[in-house]
Amino acid sequence: MTELAEQVAETTRRSVVLGLNQGTSGNVSARSTEGFLITPSGHDMTRIGAADIVPVDRDGNVPAGLAPSSEWRFHRDLYAAFPEAQAVVHAHSPFAVALACLRRDIPPFHYMVAMAGGTDIRCAAYATFGTQALSAAVLAALRGRRACLMANHGLLAWGRSLNGALALAQEVEALCGQYLRASQVGEPVLLTAAEMAEVLEKFKGYGARD
Ligand code: 13P
Ligand code: ZN
Repeated sequence: MTELAEQVAETTRRSVVLGLNQGTSGNVSARSTEGFLITPSGHDMTRIGAADIVPVDRDGNVPAGLAPSSEWRFHRDLYAAFPEAQAVVHAHSPFAVALACLRRDIPPFHYMVAMAGGTDIRCAAYATFGTQALSAAVLAALRGRRACLMANHGLLAWGRSLNGALALAQEVEALCGQYLRASQVGEPVLLTAAEMAEVLEKFKGYGARD
């Protein structure tokens, strides 16, 4: 468990280096045997170490005196809904926040949209941070997907490993930047359902699959 806690802490610090998070924004977790390990609430993301990571069981119980991320509910609900999920990265990254403030789904303007598992990446309805309502909105937006935007908030990605979740969060942030830039010049040409179906098929055997 200490090793997993160190990996969660390292992924958190990397999310800052990659420009995905800053200050106390965002949170990271990994599935454990009892439930999951998650970043603490309100901590400077650059200074999080293994000793700061909080264990939460499947029912949401936490050892007395510890304060898990305020978003522990959507982490818990995501692990319950997606048996393959081993890690979750939530970020307030610049381009994802910009697009999420427009409450726009990311359409299939680029084939890499399929990395999230479908032909688009949805934007979850708005709800106050840390609430069960936000968890419900996020879970609805994630149907058949490994990532979503969160209205007026940020993005979320899950993976089969911490590296996979972080890499997908980074990719979604890149896609948001690309979509916003293209949209400034004109209306991006979208790929067709058949073109995206071909990409989704190819992705089944592509990359590290984490
Ligand atoms: P926590 O510090 O409680 O994880 O909150 C950060 C955040 O991003 C809330 O959505
Ligand atoms: Zn947040």
